[in-house]
Amino acid sequence: MEEQYILGHTLKTWTERHPALERIIRAEEVVWLNPNDQSFNDYRSSLSLSLVDIKEAAARFRRFQPLIATLFPETAEEEGLIESSIVQIPKMQSDLSSHYRVDLPGKLWVKADHELPISGSIKARGGIYEILKFAEHLALEHGLLQTSDDYSLLAGAEARALFQQYGIMVGSTGNLGLSIGIMGAKLGFNVEVHMSVDAKEWKKEKLRSAGVTVVEHAEDFSRAVTEGRKAAEAAPHVYFVDDEWSRDLFMGYAVAALRIKKQLETAHIQVDEAHPLLVYLPCGVGGGPGGVTFGLKQVFGDAVHCFFAEPTESPAMFLGLLTGMHEKVSVEDFGLSNRTVADGLAVGRPSGFAGKMVEKMVSGMYTVRDEHLYQLLRQLIDAEGMYLEPSALAGFPGPYNLIGTAAGKEYLKQQGLDEEKLTNATHLLWGTGGNMVPDDVRQADYQSGMK
Ligand SMILES: *Cc1c(COP(=O)(O)O)cnc(C)c1O
Repeated sequence: MEEQYILGHTLKTWTERHPALERIIRAEEVVWLNPNDQSFNDYRSSLSLSLVDIKEAAARFRRFQPLIATLFPETAEEEGLIESSIVQIPKMQSDLSSHYRVDLPGKLWVKADHELPISGSIKARGGIYEILKFAEHLALEHGLLQTSDDYSLLAGAEARALFQQYGIMVGSTGNLGLSIGIMGAKLGFNVEVHMSVDAKEWKKEKLRSAGVTVVEHAEDFSRAVTEGRKAAEAAPHVYFVDDEWSRDLFMGYAVAALRIKKQLETAHIQVDEAHPLLVYLPCGVGGGPGGVTFGLKQVFGDAVHCFFAEPTESPAMFLGLLTGMHEKVSVEDFGLSNRTVADGLAVGRPSGFAGKMVEKMVSGMYTVRDEHLYQLLRQLIDAEGMYLEPSALAGFPGPYNLIGTAAGKEYLKQQGLDEEKLTNATHLLWGTGGNMVPDDVRQADYQSGMK
């Protein structure tokens, strides 16, 4: 039989170099420690973005608050702030501890991004931020706005007439399209969302009813992005939101860290070396979890430990970090299907930008099987009455992987996370989406968790 080459090497060479690959290729659940994880101060100054950039993004969000409050009345009470709460889930913690047969020291919390206004997922951070930044740029350039103005004037006829001359295009597995589509259309832009086959039907319908053009692609997400990028390049006055390379998306996500710092303070939760914060983030292309991790590292340094979770059939960022090949590698290269119920994570190729930004920040990665996601989805409803979409459950096995597997225990040892520190630990599961999911889909998901 002819020897197959993957990015210039045989499979045998790859697996010899990275033994974890053997099990990843078999689509097993794998826990992996990032050997390139370093102390934040060793590389902080070499990064192309800093805390100053996050603060700038946060200030832009603040300038837009009056406009958001005007356009989306459900945000008026919070004065146009797009933010979610942090919620402790003690019942789920005790249920999971019995399920995995190991007691979890510390406290289990959810970052409830499924509650984010406007689009009900983590994409309400990055996606909306990028559209606001583009709108601000246009309005400033055309003399319709000064940064000291009350931005609700952008809801007026003059701004709308300007925005209507522009198109916005994005390739998406679903949730990014929802965020960009809803926000963009509300401002008056002509939005076109390119979607992969995995995208859920109700997401497409929701977009169409918001006045967004949905273009379906027979192939996967990366292909949808590439097609969208090509179409945008050929058209003048079209702005392309590039999920794989966008700094703006990344910064929109990073702002979450500043907000969380305040929320933890308000909840009297200490974060420092003796009180570690462990964060578990579902990962698709990597922009969302990457941006959040980047922000958290800027705010908490080595006191925060971030783990990324992916479906066993779509470990795109996992392969990118493990091989160091980033966007050059895809899950299909290693024979995986990229078919998963976690549609928000059904990504075959990771973002090179996000991967390179966080390659020294990520503590580790792990994969989760689809059945496991459904089972967790059901458990969370039973324990806490909280519905998250399947993608958003990927983080949940994380704390138990840490204390219950050899790789996890090795991490705790390396980091000096002893019993006392773990007792003081806060485990934060990023609940990345769910509130827009229709009832019948929720019920079907719950039923799937029975099997
Ligand atoms: C997009 C998404 C993620 C991951 O974000 P990426 O930027 O693609 O890594 C996680 N969960 C949900 C529900 C999402 O929609």
